[in-house]
Amino acid sequence: MRILVTNDDGIHAPGIALLEEIAHQLSDDVWVCAPSDNQTGAGHSLTLSMPVRLRKHAERRWSVTGTPTDAVSIGLKHVLDTPPDLILSGINAGANLGDDITYSGTVSAAMEGALAGIRSIAMSQVMKQERPAWGDRFAAAREWAPKVIQPLIDAPFEPRTLVSVNFPCLAPEEVQGMRVVRQGFHDYARASVVEGRDPRGQRYYWFGLDAIEHTPDHGTDLEAIADGCVSITPLQLDLTHHSSLAGLAQRFGG
Ligand code: MN
Repeated sequence: MRILVTNDDGIHAPGIALLEEIAHQLSDDVWVCAPSDNQTGAGHSLTLSMPVRLRKHAERRWSVTGTPTDAVSIGLKHVLDTPPDLILSGINAGANLGDDITYSGTVSAAMEGALAGIRSIAMSQVMKQERPAWGDRFAAAREWAPKVIQPLIDAPFEPRTLVSVNFPCLAPEEVQGMRVVRQGFHDYARASVVEGRDPRGQRYYWFGLDAIEHTPDHGTDLEAIADGCVSITPLQLDLTHHSSLAGLAQRFGG
């Protein structure tokens, strides 16, 4: 089984090192093609206004000076001679829950994989700012990711679908199990924006990633994480709101 590992935190992030370790437990044909720098928040963007450079770090280990989508796309077209059987994206340092998904480079890398017809799984480790009592911030992912990936390896994936996984911010032995759940929504989302002045007196704005308030709906990823479970959410690229189609068509004479 050939596995392509990518992420949005960049090739030097600890989460991708862990994901490579986990991939090597599954296969000896593991490739990495990831952004050279942190691309958190890049969503599904492509680099169009400047060239992207591809750099070889080691045998089967490459980075691109672009977004997670660039990395998957260039990985598939210019790094691998035959397509991978599986794309693993992550492990992101931070949650990708609810309506975080469209901002997420981690999930978008897996979307790009799904568009290419490849089984793709995004993985994110929920974190708090302070270091946890159990030390390793990725401890839950380290223990639980193999348990999540194994059943997904031969599970049927519909075309243009992917799976997004979040690990709760708990010591591995405190994790309450795995739940397949739908995407939830935050009550009030959007990062805070801090306004400041740079050393030359120019105003700047900087997005923060505060904990977002929410009352999780039943059966959602947010609820699963709040209950201490690993959340497993199948996602689709079709963003059409199907039940609005007929009503809207009527307004346009359809
Ligand atoms: Mn990230």
